[in-house]
Amino acid sequence: MLAGTEWEEKGLHWHAYLGAGSLCLDRSDLPPREVLRSPEQVAEWIRDRAAEGEPQLVRFGERWVRTTDTEFLDVAWFRDLKVAERGDSIICSWPAVGGGRTTVYVDAVAADQCPFDH
Ligand SMILES: [Zn+2]
Repeated sequence: MLAGTEWEEKGLHWHAYLGAGSLCLDRSDLPPREVLRSPEQVAEWIRDRAAEGEPQLVRFGERWVRTTDTEFLDVAWFRDLKVAERGDSIICSWPAVGGGRTTVYVDAVAADQCPFDH
């Protein structure tokens, strides 16, 4: 098997959800906000949501950057791409503009285990 093709061999797609607050979103019967069909779509969707977050200063090598800066988002995009290529799910969270937190849930689902018709 070639590296990065596990998701295809497993017949996966991803259900994407947005949550707010600190409680974990119950996604068991909830139709997804978006259906993502490739690791590139997964990484792009998360990146777009992260870019809308409240900027936070973080260490980036020897420097400090904002979490909404392109170079930081690019590194996160690549990390998320590799996770999705392995066929894994991703949950991450960051401060929302105006207070509170935004949490994204991107659940890997095999086609034969998806309860939805999409
Ligand atoms: Zn599905």
